[in-house]
Amino acid sequence: MTKTIYLATLCLLLSLAAAAQPIAFTVSMDNPAAHYFRVVMQCHGLKGKNQDFKMPVWTPGYYQRLDFANNLDSFSVTDGNARPLAWEKTSGNTWRVQSNNAATLTISYIIRTKRAFVATPYLDDTRGYISPAGVFLHPAGKLQQPVQVVVKPFTAWKDVATGLDTVAGEPYTYTAPDYDALYDSPLLIGNLEELPAFTVSGIPHRFIGYRPGDFDKVQFMSDLKKIVETASAIIGHIPYRQYVFIAIGPGAGGIEHANSTTISFNGAGLSSPKERLRLLNFIAHEYFHHYNVKRIRPIELGPFDYDNGSRTKMLWVSEGLTVYYEYLILRRAGLSTEEDLFNNIRSNITAFETKTGKLYQSLAEASYETWRDGPFGRTADTVVKTISYYDKGPVVGMLFDFAIRHATKNQRSLDDVMRRLYREFYQQKQRGFTEQELRAVIESTAGSRMDQLFDYIYTTKEINYQKYLAYAGLAMGSDHKIIRIQNPDALQAAILESWLGEGR
Ligand SMILES: [Zn+2]
Repeated sequence: MTKTIYLATLCLLLSLAAAAQPIAFTVSMDNPAAHYFRVVMQCHGLKGKNQDFKMPVWTPGYYQRLDFANNLDSFSVTDGNARPLAWEKTSGNTWRVQSNNAATLTISYIIRTKRAFVATPYLDDTRGYISPAGVFLHPAGKLQQPVQVVVKPFTAWKDVATGLDTVAGEPYTYTAPDYDALYDSPLLIGNLEELPAFTVSGIPHRFIGYRPGDFDKVQFMSDLKKIVETASAIIGHIPYRQYVFIAIGPGAGGIEHANSTTISFNGAGLSSPKERLRLLNFIAHEYFHHYNVKRIRPIELGPFDYDNGSRTKMLWVSEGLTVYYEYLILRRAGLSTEEDLFNNIRSNITAFETKTGKLYQSLAEASYETWRDGPFGRTADTVVKTISYYDKGPVVGMLFDFAIRHATKNQRSLDDVMRRLYREFYQQKQRGFTEQELRAVIESTAGSRMDQLFDYIYTTKEINYQKYLAYAGLAMGSDHKIIRIQNPDALQAAILESWLGEGR
């Protein structure tokens, strides 16, 4: 090997090493009572005169603009020789650095936090919560870069809960293969409590929380295991290597991720049967989302548009059907009764039917306009002209399920639709589905057209509940009460039995 070739090879190897070097973050929280994180970001090998750095305006799973950049202060940047570089804001969420081909950039900033909520970063003297889209900048156009995060917990704290991979021998060090994985992996930091873990198909499932409360933790984890077993049996495949339920403390709401979920949680409520059912439904919902929306997904929900938000007309699938499946999972797991299931469906029908929004807005429009109307619709209007896909979505999901079961003599169900979407789009095509593709999967599973049901998605046409409930030997009584009909025929009885998860 000549010296020239040797040098050229060395340069190539060095540049490859630079390209593969992860963007490195350090997050510290020395004064948690002041409610801010200090972040240092180091990037290598970014070429060019200028380099733009961006903060997402939203976090996937919560379809509202949160403008995280507004919480970023004290931005500064230096090159590899610690010389300060000039920078300017060029949009609400863009910092343009005059990098002049510097081999290394070190950016420092703080993230002020205001509200303890699943979608926003938060820090106080009890715990820290990193909602990553609100904490980590990315170099514009380079979301595919690998990332490493070192957390420096406040001195009195020792635990971190996250779905991110750890680095052996390096405490509090985490890696993500790219920014999509990083932005999908929140971290909870503090003195946390871990409940007894379980495995399903050999895969570990952990529950780690900030002050989860006083309750029967063995019973609760046994219930959670049943939820995971029942939900994963619907799809027939578990796609992650580990899963973490991250309980961030009391409050409302949860956000789903590919191998974790963050949930507001107060276990003290588990002693009330009604609250226990609500909490298990909520956890089953967030868990089932790792299939339905993280992997079985509308084509618009990935790659994400972190600058503007990603709009789809199919949140009735991602949210509505997830509500429907939370009910079915609990029933099939033996954690709820037939009456609980009927009451859940009834409460959605009542919520939808008793508001004027049903005359004005279709389910597809409610999905698309959630960025304008909020997750539950514009409920404060004088005349309500919006609906919630959390109400109409699960109801229409049930009607599709009954229609498929009826059309196939109970040989197929909505479960087959979910399995096909998982296999054909997530596993094989490795992308989401369009509205037309979804319709094709549903109608080919049923073996017939479903025009009337798709009218319930795309129009405000009145729903014929009795027709579809009858397929399962059910009827709607006064005040939307769901009841069994007398003397169902064999097909009706078989559909009802398998839908209720009996004889499995
Ligand atoms: Zn949801």
